[in-house]
Amino acid sequence: MAQPSAPTPTPALLLRPAAVFDGETLHPGWAVLTEGDKIKAVGPAAQLPAPAGARTVELPGLTLLPGLIEGHSHLLLHPYNETSWNDQVLQESEALRVARATAHARATLEAGFTTVRDLGSEGAGYADVGLKQAIDRGLIPGPRMVVATRALVATGSYGPKLAAGFVVPQGAQEADGVDGIIRAVREQIGRGADVIKVYADYRWGANEPSRPTFTQDELNLIVQTARSSGRPVVAHASTPEGMRRATLAGVQTIEHGDAGTPEVFKLMKQRGVALCPTVAAGDATSRYRGWRKGQDPEPERIQQKKQTMKAALQSGVDLAYGGDVGVFAHGDNLREAELLIQEYGFTSLQTLRGFTAGNARIFQLPDRGRIQPGLLADLVAVAGDPTKDIKTLRQVRLVVKGGVVVKE
Ligand SMILES: [Zn+2]
Repeated sequence: MAQPSAPTPTPALLLRPAAVFDGETLHPGWAVLTEGDKIKAVGPAAQLPAPAGARTVELPGLTLLPGLIEGHSHLLLHPYNETSWNDQVLQESEALRVARATAHARATLEAGFTTVRDLGSEGAGYADVGLKQAIDRGLIPGPRMVVATRALVATGSYGPKLAAGFVVPQGAQEADGVDGIIRAVREQIGRGADVIKVYADYRWGANEPSRPTFTQDELNLIVQTARSSGRPVVAHASTPEGMRRATLAGVQTIEHGDAGTPEVFKLMKQRGVALCPTVAAGDATSRYRGWRKGQDPEPERIQQKKQTMKAALQSGVDLAYGGDVGVFAHGDNLREAELLIQEYGFTSLQTLRGFTAGNARIFQLPDRGRIQPGLLADLVAVAGDPTKDIKTLRQVRLVVKGGVVVKE
């Protein structure tokens, strides 16, 4: 374990797989050389001799690809069919949630996801910042984290909601109006947020559909305040009006987008706002509510999602890839790609590009997501060809993070 005071040099690795997927294209016969925590060289194996002191790792029959980037996780949540979201927020101590999260972080890394965009601690305060520090310091294994901390909600719009007389802790930070919003955004940034997450719509009452929360002016203010610190904003939104307001405010991505219309997807495309559809979350919660997939007819929510995804694809809106993992089990991140392929007509290559180079581009992480000299040596090896069959990623044989073999 590397100590900050006495860093041990990372030995160079020469990785010799059957093929390299560089984030865009498959290259049979290529190899990759790392130096320190970076990629030093990539190209035909014959042109990459092992330098003195390098460790050669033969990976016959395997494909080497960039470490995957999960676009939407909650390491501080665990599946809702184990414990409901309300009970996790209200009845689980922060210590318990953090202890669980350390196991979630390890499972994520071992599944080949070397970066997560973790979109809200859901009532666990700034625990995501500490978790990220523990990983970065080498105290526990886990992915690189882009953290949102507490997330922002309009007062009264979020949960948990008990009887009207009870004041209970909320799953995100309430903020309203000019002073309140500016203060809350700055507070989250000061305490370690890499990205600001805002709920642009939500169910105001338990048995009603989602409706917009923040006003256009409030959303504009959130984006302006975050942007002046160099941080992007992501919006949870599923209604056309919530999505429209978030898009006009200038968020980087819209999460879910379940009731998106052709008009709003067109606006998103015009404004360069990406959609992270999180199809795995709706699939999981529908099953938790009793849907016997394969036997029962598709719930309305899933039917609607398939319709709106058609409209999204037709519009050409940019897509980010993430499943809202935490709603379902950490380490099962691949489920989003599998569902997109099986039920939404995507190809393996498309999802693989999305979870690597695509997410890196959209999330503005230029140091990863591709296999290129100078980028972080975050690498994964799988048997077979993942550009043709995404299921190969269910059997991750090797994970390298920052030039260090963390699973072999
Ligand atoms: Zn989420």
